[in-house]
Amino acid sequence: MLGSGRLRVVFFAISILLASLLAGTLSAAVPATVDPEQLLRRADTIKTSNHAEFAELLKQLDGETIKLSAEQQWYLRFLDAWEAAYSGDYKTATTSLNAIMDQSPSTTLRFRAGATLVNMLGIGHRYEEAFARLSQLLDQLPEVDDKEARFQGLGEAAQLYIEAGQYDLALNYANQLLAENSTGEYACKGRYLVLDARYRSGKLQDIARQFQEGIDVCVDVGGTLFANGIRADMARFEIQQGRAAAAINLLQRNYAEVLGAKYQSLISQFDALLAMAYWKDGQVALAEQFAHDAINSSIRDEYTESLTTAYELLYRIKLQQRAFAAALSWHEKYMAADKAYLNDVGTKALAYQVVKQQVQAKKLEVETLGKQNQILQLQQALDRKASETSRLYIALLLSVLVFIALWAYRIKLSQLRFMRLARRDGLTDIFNRQHFLNEAELQLQYCRRASRDACLVLIDLDHFKAINDTHGHAVGDRVLQRAVGACKAHLRSTDVFGRLGGEEFGILLPECSLEQVLARADQLRAAVASAASDGDDLGIQISASFGVACSIRSGYELHLLLVHADEALYRAKREGRNRVRVSDDGAEACHGAEVVSIERV
Ligand code: GH3
Ligand code: MG
Ligand code: MG
Repeated sequence: MLGSGRLRVVFFAISILLASLLAGTLSAAVPATVDPEQLLRRADTIKTSNHAEFAELLKQLDGETIKLSAEQQWYLRFLDAWEAAYSGDYKTATTSLNAIMDQSPSTTLRFRAGATLVNMLGIGHRYEEAFARLSQLLDQLPEVDDKEARFQGLGEAAQLYIEAGQYDLALNYANQLLAENSTGEYACKGRYLVLDARYRSGKLQDIARQFQEGIDVCVDVGGTLFANGIRADMARFEIQQGRAAAAINLLQRNYAEVLGAKYQSLISQFDALLAMAYWKDGQVALAEQFAHDAINSSIRDEYTESLTTAYELLYRIKLQQRAFAAALSWHEKYMAADKAYLNDVGTKALAYQVVKQQVQAKKLEVETLGKQNQILQLQQALDRKASETSRLYIALLLSVLVFIALWAYRIKLSQLRFMRLARRDGLTDIFNRQHFLNEAELQLQYCRRASRDACLVLIDLDHFKAINDTHGHAVGDRVLQRAVGACKAHLRSTDVFGRLGGEEFGILLPECSLEQVLARADQLRAAVASAASDGDDLGIQISASFGVACSIRSGYELHLLLVHADEALYRAKREGRNRVRVSDDGAEACHGAEVVSIERV
């Protein structure tokens, strides 16, 4: 098998060759224009097919005379980096390519820089970085539309995975490459990669026919290097199958062409394969000659399978010839080369595994972070919902509280209204009989305790029945209201005024002496009598009779006061109405207090 380090170099060269094929006829002409965009594109196209002109164009573009846009400057930087890589200045190339990948606004250019870097890292045996970069590159692939850039990316992936022994992965990318580009040079390159991956993975079914098909496709489009790359695999297959003569035939027929292409690693492969085939065929001298050629055509300091094969053959030849000293010397070289080569192969496989683990760990980390983020968002949503719910509860609670408060307030109001209704007389709005009696009782108790005088006045409107009969009941009502109004105007806030029934009223006057009550009763009598003259539309003249009883004569018992006042009232009626009379019986009851009666006509 070919050394994979060697194969990487082959791949780079193949990329170069392909670029030259794509350049076509353009490569011959020197541009007559100085349009920077055209110059850049032309340089890009001819960078391998006419390297001298490419270098000249770069010099021109790098000079200060041509003004470039920001995007064009990135393009030029890419071409400069490519040139640096081509001439082996990997440090400069790496710096520029990294800058392009980080900062260039063009997706295509970023991708191309990445692919070039992967290739370079492979050549420099920096496999871990190469696989890490490749992984990033493949992540970007879905966003890349440019055909050439995709071709390069897929090719790098297939190539690097072949080198790491991941043939199934390599075959996937090679097949994708072929599916996207099934014509011309692309088809040739795609087939080369597919065949190489298949052959190396041991999928040998019908391989000979497929080798031939691949060779034919490449020959058709002038892809000599690819065709010979496939031939090398085919010859190796023939040797493995014990058909050394067929391998010799195949290799010799194309040997001149390979030498002409001056591509060292492929020449070295052909030499090593020829040496092996001749050895198997028993032509030792030729085997020895090609083994030396393979060593000479090998790239210095590169350990490949070709080199290992050549050393091994020379050792076996010398051993067969019993030249033991020489055999030992070749054996030492064989061992060193084999060890270095196997190291390289192992390093690649390990690098692939390491990067794969890293990528998986990274993905896992990202997924975990994503999940954590999701949980956090859910938590926040939950918190929001919870606070919304509690706000709702609070609002609901407040509404209920307000409702209850309003309800309580309304109940209180109606309670007060009912209480008032229960205590007041509906027509005159003064205390009704029951409430009057209660309040009068309280006031009397207070006066008794405080040893203050208290008087009770009973009022009965005169000839009221006649008013009703003459003017009707409604007018009678208004007359009642008027009489009450006239009395109220002369009462104190502590006086208890109530309607005892019909046209009969009572007033309890606390802290009021007999003299005072007579004066006040007369005042009330006058007020009632003159009430009609206050603009009454009916012009009905009314009057009332007043019966008075006082605590000083009747004591503080309400029922006694009522009886005595009623008697006095009766007397007032009897004696002509519209007058005030004081209880005579009370005088007796109160131990001979002088009877006072005031009469007004
Ligand atoms: P007197 O001077 O002797 O008191 O004569 P009077 O007509 O007032 O006699 P009496 O006390 O017997 O008549 C009271 C009348 O008052 C009888 C009744 O029709 C009338 N009355 C009682 N309550 C009301 C009332 O709420 N509204 C009206 N309009 N009349 C009432
Ligand atoms: Mg009456
Ligand atoms: Mg009356």
